[in-house]
Amino acid sequence: MPTYDYRCCNCQERFEIFISYEDYGKKDVACPACHSENVQRRIGKIRLAKSEDRRIEDMVDPSQLDGLEDDPKALGRLMRKMGAELGEDAGPEFDEVVSRLEKGQSPEDIERELPDIGEGVNNTGDGMD
Ligand SMILES: [Zn+2]
Repeated sequence: MPTYDYRCCNCQERFEIFISYEDYGKKDVACPACHSENVQRRIGKIRLAKSEDRRIEDMVDPSQLDGLEDDPKALGRLMRKMGAELGEDAGPEFDEVVSRLEKGQSPEDIERELPDIGEGVNNTGDGMD
């Protein structure tokens, strides 16, 4: 079962949870410290997909979001499109992650190989909340 790294937006607690691929995106994730559900996944790109749901729905069929965890190339394409459409200052990490996704690397592998990405995203992404 995959492990997902999260950070609580309420108390800044960092925690890992185990979610099956089937449950990912369906299950509510709550902070173990304060039980807030205002949490973000630390890879950030997935968080972008979550936090911009409404805008994404204008761009893509929401059903396309299903199974993206299992399809890095599709996720990469979607993220590149989102990055362009949203005009966010995503930074060089965004391009790096998107290129890796487009090559078929899984988000988990990218996170392992680029351990600083979560930090960088947290530092630059707070304005989006
Ligand atoms: Zn918390």
